[in-house]
Amino acid sequence: MIIPKKVLLTISIVLFSFTSYSLGRTIPISKYHLKISKENLRVVEVNASFEVQESYLEMRPWGFPPEIERGWAKFVDIKSVTDSKGEPINFVWNDELEKWKLDISKNSLINLNYQVELSHDKYNWDAGGGIDGRPTVWKDNTIFWVSSALIVFSEGHNNQKAEITFDVPKDWKVSTAWVKLSNRKFVSNSIDELINNLIMIGHHEERLIKHDNMSITIATPSNFKHRIDLIEQSLEKVLPAYKNIFGELPTANYLVCASKNTIQDGEAYTNSFHQMFIDKDLEYNKMVWANTLAHEMFHYWNGTNFIFSDDYAGNYWFSEGFTNYYSSLTLLRTGIINEEEYLRFLAFQFSKLHYSQINSNEKTSLIEAGKSKINNWHFIYGGGTSIAFILDVQIRSNTKGRKSLDDFMKVLYSKYGKLYKSISIEIQIEELNHLTNSNFKSFYNDYIIGKDSLLDAIVKACDKAGLAISHYQSEFYLTPKKDKPDSIYQSIITPTRYID
Ligand SMILES: [Zn+2]
Repeated sequence: MIIPKKVLLTISIVLFSFTSYSLGRTIPISKYHLKISKENLRVVEVNASFEVQESYLEMRPWGFPPEIERGWAKFVDIKSVTDSKGEPINFVWNDELEKWKLDISKNSLINLNYQVELSHDKYNWDAGGGIDGRPTVWKDNTIFWVSSALIVFSEGHNNQKAEITFDVPKDWKVSTAWVKLSNRKFVSNSIDELINNLIMIGHHEERLIKHDNMSITIATPSNFKHRIDLIEQSLEKVLPAYKNIFGELPTANYLVCASKNTIQDGEAYTNSFHQMFIDKDLEYNKMVWANTLAHEMFHYWNGTNFIFSDDYAGNYWFSEGFTNYYSSLTLLRTGIINEEEYLRFLAFQFSKLHYSQINSNEKTSLIEAGKSKINNWHFIYGGGTSIAFILDVQIRSNTKGRKSLDDFMKVLYSKYGKLYKSISIEIQIEELNHLTNSNFKSFYNDYIIGKDSLLDAIVKACDKAGLAISHYQSEFYLTPKKDKPDSIYQSIITPTRYID
């Protein structure tokens, strides 16, 4: 969207009067000016001005392999720090704190000049979360940045707004997850949004889709632009379905970066995600790539922005498992996949859970398993998805079909998520009990907090839902019972209550 100059001016004035308040004090908007030239795509010159609330400068402390000393700061060369009068300020890197210590008092305005070198792609990023989160320059000269690699900031008031301006060649595009004021100027609404998002710059393809007040930009490097229609069509179906689950779409800007690779993977950020595709037979393997797309998109609500727990690792079974349950179910509800594919997926989740429960030497609970997500991958994803299925069946059964897991998600979003309140296990139990007028405490105690095998609960839920389940060791097979056309399973897969 091109904004007429007059409107832009009004927006700018409004934005510049946006300030953050801390103890009654007005904090000015932070500013970042990023310059990249055609001559060297791997260097970004940054000029920034902001108020430091503590006398430190830092970068996001995660998202890189632990063996890289200083993390993101390794690739940053600070040229100068000056105060509001232009006087130089001394700065020194502190190894223990992993921050730059500034020789300045708190709440001072500073001007900062630094250079970031994009050489992250020389490193193996497996231990940093995979290459979907690693800055790189693709073959078509499109530059992929994670904002945490670019932004040096000062921790403080999280609602601190920032204006980010790009000085790049005229014929380049800039795609970000931030509010767009012009093709080169953007605004982020919090430190989190500023440092935990994606940016694509260069000659890539861009597509904008809008639903209510949610704007989604899809950005693909040129070697994958022939797939942008397919991605757009999938998101056009998925978004209204998510609106049905949560009751509304939030007012937000979102960026989907889709790239071609030899592996498939995805990584979600505050309001963006990057998905890597193997560009082969995409029409036939939607269960894999469309599920990842729907999964990462669902994380915008669950796990990343709204529905979360202060016990981040202890909540993986919910943030990953329920996301997995809903992404696959949404693909079926919207006709992107068929029932056979869906049931194969669900049966596979039961298998992953059961296999990990019978094969681990030491039993662990779903909550504890989150502490070692990589080692307990199958248990967390398979277990969380199985719990979501069992609860969906149980809620529908206890309320005689009046309520479902969708209603539970709606309550979590509207009562807690929208207010950015952490959701504990106790809150989950309380809300489930309230929703269904029954008691889920022992279910949580046995299967989520405790270490009981979920096998019997899965079999019972399938029976109750009208799904025939057979299993041999860790192989599971699911078939809808023909004599139960009005079964709970049928009500789960049919989206009945549309909100308009
Ligand atoms: Zn996930």
